[in-house]
Amino acid sequence: MKASQFLITTLKEAPADAEVASHRLMTRAGMVRKLGAGIYNYMPMGLRVIRKIEAIVREEMNRAGAVEMTMPVIQPAEYWQESGRFEKMGPELLRIKDRHDRDFVVQPTSEEVVTDVARQELRSYKQLPRNLYQIQTKFRDERRPRFGLMRGREFIMKDAYSFDRDEAGAKASYQVMGAAYRRIFDRFGLRYRAVAADSGAIGGDLSEEFQVIAATGEDAIVYCPHSDYAANMEKAEALAPAGPRPAPSNPLVRTPTPGKSTCAEVAALLGVPLATTVKSLVLATDTLNEAGEVVKSQVWLLLLRGDHDMNEVKVGKVPGLDQGYRFATVPEIEAHFGCKPGYLGPIGLKQPVKLVVDREVAVMADWICGGNEVDVHLTGVNWGRDLPEPDQVADIRNVVEGDPSPDGKGRLAIERGIEVGHVFYLGTKYSKGMNATFLDEDGKPKHFEMGCYGIGITRLPAAAIEQNHDERGIIWPDAIAPFTVVVCPIGMDRSAEVKAAADNLYMQLLNDGVDVILDDRGERPGAMFADWELIGVPHRITIGDRGLKAGEVEYQHRRDSAPTAVKLADIVAHVK
Ligand code: ATP
Ligand code: MG
Ligand code: MG
Ligand code: MG
Repeated sequence: MKASQFLITTLKEAPADAEVASHRLMTRAGMVRKLGAGIYNYMPMGLRVIRKIEAIVREEMNRAGAVEMTMPVIQPAEYWQESGRFEKMGPELLRIKDRHDRDFVVQPTSEEVVTDVARQELRSYKQLPRNLYQIQTKFRDERRPRFGLMRGREFIMKDAYSFDRDEAGAKASYQVMGAAYRRIFDRFGLRYRAVAADSGAIGGDLSEEFQVIAATGEDAIVYCPHSDYAANMEKAEALAPAGPRPAPSNPLVRTPTPGKSTCAEVAALLGVPLATTVKSLVLATDTLNEAGEVVKSQVWLLLLRGDHDMNEVKVGKVPGLDQGYRFATVPEIEAHFGCKPGYLGPIGLKQPVKLVVDREVAVMADWICGGNEVDVHLTGVNWGRDLPEPDQVADIRNVVEGDPSPDGKGRLAIERGIEVGHVFYLGTKYSKGMNATFLDEDGKPKHFEMGCYGIGITRLPAAAIEQNHDERGIIWPDAIAPFTVVVCPIGMDRSAEVKAAADNLYMQLLNDGVDVILDDRGERPGAMFADWELIGVPHRITIGDRGLKAGEVEYQHRRDSAPTAVKLADIVAHVK
């Protein structure tokens, strides 16, 4: 590829709504352009990354014996009515109507359609096991699309579905997918962890998420550094003993002047430097049922360090933290707001939130904390996340750093992750729901045993960047870089030697199957280097007059701080 023919649209500034590095850098590098909330154009540079990810996923899926097909993005509602999800699924499911007033859904995933394919096409046990997958556009009307491609509304997912004769077969298929996922994520060159995830009532332990480790991840993952125990927070909490925890050993002490303490005093108590004011934020979490109705509301207090913009955060529902949770945990709150809470606890307070837990005002008049305005403080705050409402005590299973690991092999640590893959044993949930059967050896119809397996294709570049970037831009792992090598000629228009050497090297690399781009745009070296460092191409070869005279070019890896001279004759071997 020649840069003059490609579409390179780098930007100096990141969009104002870009909260995390990957969103800022993918936009600045011209990889994506926002079309609407959670809806993006994959620009040529970004699409190359996506295609490389797809190719690796496809290769490993095929190797694992899965078969590719595609299912419609727009699906008739009748299949979803059959499984019950048309009614049951909340507003994340985008429902649309055609001109005849018939209902359709835009696929958020494809269990229904693939189950229909199975009941039509897989008639006999002799056709089993079978694994069908697609790499296809999905739409989820996420309540809070954000972080660019990380949580889009339209995104690309690889979704695979296994069909087996019996439970043992399904579990074997699940293991095959788990192994394929490990190969896939190893090939991407990212640091990740496979963690146990909650599989609901069915499936026992057979649900795992693949989490790319990154501080900005939305998920909290709990692991034991001394064993292979690793689970997402929900799962870890499900395993933890129920009931309130003993009060944490918290450095907080009672304020010396209840009701009148200043921000500085509160900051001192929290052990937070008062570079700016310690701000507090009141927020409410709602627990929703499957129909999306609020069944429980709770009020929380979050203390933020530094000058978080209070205007960005609205008091009210906290999208993403509420579904299925009794309480939002500290790491989740941290992830949600991208900053550390000073401390967090259920509180009783006066104003100004709409969801006031009056009863707690009466019983918890212990503490004071900074309010939303300078020198405005709240009284009646009880510090500690261990004070659930009495009727919920039995449900609370908080897990914190330092808790003993369930396997008894050490203490737990918590880190943040980005869910890039999920494998799930489904059992007969869909095959029974949609009466999908095959004829078994004994001639009797049986319901398929199923599994489903997703990979967030377009979430992956964002996850890769969260893990691999610096102040100059992205640093792609070779396997998924938009181009592996960039050739940068200096003064190509002035020097026939440079032009000839660059053209020559470019052709040689192409012929050797290297994914190379030649920067023939005629940019000044500074601007040219800045572009490629932002875009994150891992290997750069610079060709200039002076080096050529000595038979040399300059090589620099994106992680190197300076270039090294390499003989022109050796450079192809050097980057291969
Ligand atoms: P999340 O917890 O992040 O909402 P999920 O558990 O709802 O994800 P799954 O139903 O397990 O997602 O879908 C499989 C994969 O699809 C996820 O592991 C993730 O990588 C990807 N994915 C899900 N939602 C999105 C989204 N809104 N944008 C981009 N990728 C997504
Ligand atoms: Mg989701
Ligand atoms: Mg999830
Ligand atoms: Mg998931």
